[in-house]
Amino acid sequence: MITYDSRTGQFRGSDGRFVKRGVILQRLNEIQNNTQTQIEKISKQLVNRQISLSIWQERMIGIIKEGNIQTIAFGAGGRRKLTKAHYGKMGANLKSEWSRINNFVDEIKKGNLTPEQIINRAKLYSQSVATQFYGGEMLTKGLDGFKYAKRWLDSGARHCSQCPSYSTNGLWRPLSEVILPGHRCDCRGRCRCGISYKK
Ligand SMILES: [Zn+2]
Ligand SMILES: [Zn+2]
Repeated sequence: MITYDSRTGQFRGSDGRFVKRGVILQRLNEIQNNTQTQIEKISKQLVNRQISLSIWQERMIGIIKEGNIQTIAFGAGGRRKLTKAHYGKMGANLKSEWSRINNFVDEIKKGNLTPEQIINRAKLYSQSVATQFYGGEMLTKGLDGFKYAKRWLDSGARHCSQCPSYSTNGLWRPLSEVILPGHRCDCRGRCRCGISYKK
């Protein structure tokens, strides 16, 4: 059981020690993978005609919503740390996801996509789940009095064309000036860009 410590802005394990960032990101990855597995399962059922398109859409919405709640709450430091601002951020993200899913459904109806294309495109929806972690984290940090953030590249990772310009080059910047990993970016955070905060 890990708990969030508002003063330091870090998670503590049951032994009271701080949990390493890598462990937190591993947990985030597990949530995303779990979402992706569920999406893959129902999308295979769809292309094998075991479920209808409307049932598939309904289940997609449920899975994505649950994944978003889990990650934003995790980033926020637990469900009890969720505020109106967190729900507003998540709601805005879900709204854009629902319109993307509607377009996706239209294309499936028109018969424009092969079964493989349907499954692969559906799986991409798990990526927005991880971006909510970073959004929830920054909101909580702001509320807990953290004023600056620093963002850097993982030198071993392949980055999209936008990520390098979002690095703060080793400098602390006001929160409002730092773009979150996975936002406004083609790789949607798969490159493991890092972010940290200070008061
Ligand atoms: Zn990127
Ligand atoms: Zn990146």
